[in-house]
Amino acid sequence: MKDFDKYLQEVGEVGSIREVVGPIAYAVGLPKARPFELVVFENGEFGQVFSVKKDVVEVLTFAKTPLAVGLRATRTGKIIDVPVGKELISNVIDPFGGSFENHKMFNKPTERRSLEESLMGISARKTIKRSFETGVSIVDLMVPLGRGQRELVIGDRKTGKTSFLFQTIVYAAKQGEICIYAAIGKNKIEIKRAEEYFAANNVLDRVVIVASSSQDPAGVVYLTPFSAMTIAEYFRDQGQDTLVVMDDLSTHAKFYREISLIGKRFPGRDSYPGDMFYIHARLLERGGNFHTKDGGEVSITCLPVVQTLQGDLSGYIQTNIMSMTDGHIYFDSNLFTQGRRPSINPFLSVTRVGRQTQPDSKRSISRELITFLTLFDKMQNIVHFGSELTEAVRVILDTGNKVLQLFDQETHVVVPGNVQPIVLSLLWGEDSRKIDVSKLAEMRGKISELYIKNPDYRKMVDDVVLKSSSFNEILALVKDNAAKFGISIPTLAAFSVNTNTTTPPPQAQPQPTQPATTQDKKPESSH
Ligand code: ATP
Ligand code: MG
Repeated sequence: MKDFDKYLQEVGEVGSIREVVGPIAYAVGLPKARPFELVVFENGEFGQVFSVKKDVVEVLTFAKTPLAVGLRATRTGKIIDVPVGKELISNVIDPFGGSFENHKMFNKPTERRSLEESLMGISARKTIKRSFETGVSIVDLMVPLGRGQRELVIGDRKTGKTSFLFQTIVYAAKQGEICIYAAIGKNKIEIKRAEEYFAANNVLDRVVIVASSSQDPAGVVYLTPFSAMTIAEYFRDQGQDTLVVMDDLSTHAKFYREISLIGKRFPGRDSYPGDMFYIHARLLERGGNFHTKDGGEVSITCLPVVQTLQGDLSGYIQTNIMSMTDGHIYFDSNLFTQGRRPSINPFLSVTRVGRQTQPDSKRSISRELITFLTLFDKMQNIVHFGSELTEAVRVILDTGNKVLQLFDQETHVVVPGNVQPIVLSLLWGEDSRKIDVSKLAEMRGKISELYIKNPDYRKMVDDVVLKSSSFNEILALVKDNAAKFGISIPTLAAFSVNTNTTTPPPQAQPQPTQPATTQDKKPESSH
């Protein structure tokens, strides 16, 4: 009421509601209203101008109960804004910056930012050169991301998309990023679970959850990702690398479709309105890697989620968002039913900028893995025919199975980026035989732990990965230095198959050392 009077005095235009249809109120008497402008009603509720017609203004209201016809309304001359600041960290907030539980504001907001910031132009942006690690081996090794990349996470329902994103948020937060998780139209229980997950992993002090529940008014759900992006931009301007996760944009599109249909907008493909593409493009375009004033760079990495129906990647929303992101990670429901966790299909996933951020050695691993896994796939078909296997095929199958095991990662497991190539080298080719498959996860855990806790070990591993120029060099270095540096001695000894007993010694077999045929081995003395 206080606000209403204040704005009424300021703009001097008093209108009233003529008709209400669901979340949309038609107001007359606001001749100077502009699109996106904030409109305040005399009962304290507010809304956003959705469209301006000849003598009536369509207002998208954010009230839980429909507004009454005849209620007075006034313009504000402002666009909807949210309070931003460090106080938001560790909290679950609604899209207006209040607490999600009771909608109370936190501290006195120090700064407010409009939800519709103008987009940064090309001159403010910088080429993406820094890599963004997720701690999930299959992604970091095969579909690598860069800081400032916008990567779509896509897949059927219940294929592990959210689990992967939570894992990524935990890892990114531990790397010092501020993470904004936008829960768009989720169940309250899912929102609570997100909060508990981050708290249990000790990263809540670097996370902001912007949430709207499925019971919230459609307009509130619609604003959620915009609000998350605005908060991310605040942290970016503080010089903080930021990650924004939007879970998920297909729900967002559905709520926007609902609003548009009620507002009698012309239904286009799948009944979505004509500006559906524009809405999402305007949102995702705000991510990127930017120049800072002091000559540095700062990024907003953006991971939107889209749900597919029976693996259909060609739907309207899917193709729209694919075309405005820098690639996608595909969660395959077939792989999920086969028991793969995460169920990412690297052959159907794409990354358009991540590879340029990688050191040569990792790029070479990614190339090698693609060739090898394709070969492995073919070989598996041969096995189905029951033909007799040569030793070379057996090595490929053995390594392949172990690589897939390595890619299996429980949600609570994160593997530091540089540890991944080392673990992979330990089970590559002939060496894969020495490692007991049931102890693979334990071995990986042990190496990750050593890496995190022991700075010398970390330096050694980083040196091996960053100074090598190819996977072969890493392989050679790991083998050469295993004893000296203890990369594999404690681990291999503890995790190897017990060769003292009946297992035939590996040298009894003929000798293809590399499973994939594309590599010529470099002389091992190069370092
Ligand atoms: P929705 O469509 O509901 O959003 P989703 O694709 O986000 O689903 P999740 O909710 O993340 O999928 O995961 C579905 C189930 O799979 C959960 O029970 C989760 O515990 C399990 N799951 C996903 N990833 C893993 C993993 N890496 N390890 C173990 N379990 C996993
Ligand atoms: Mg989910």
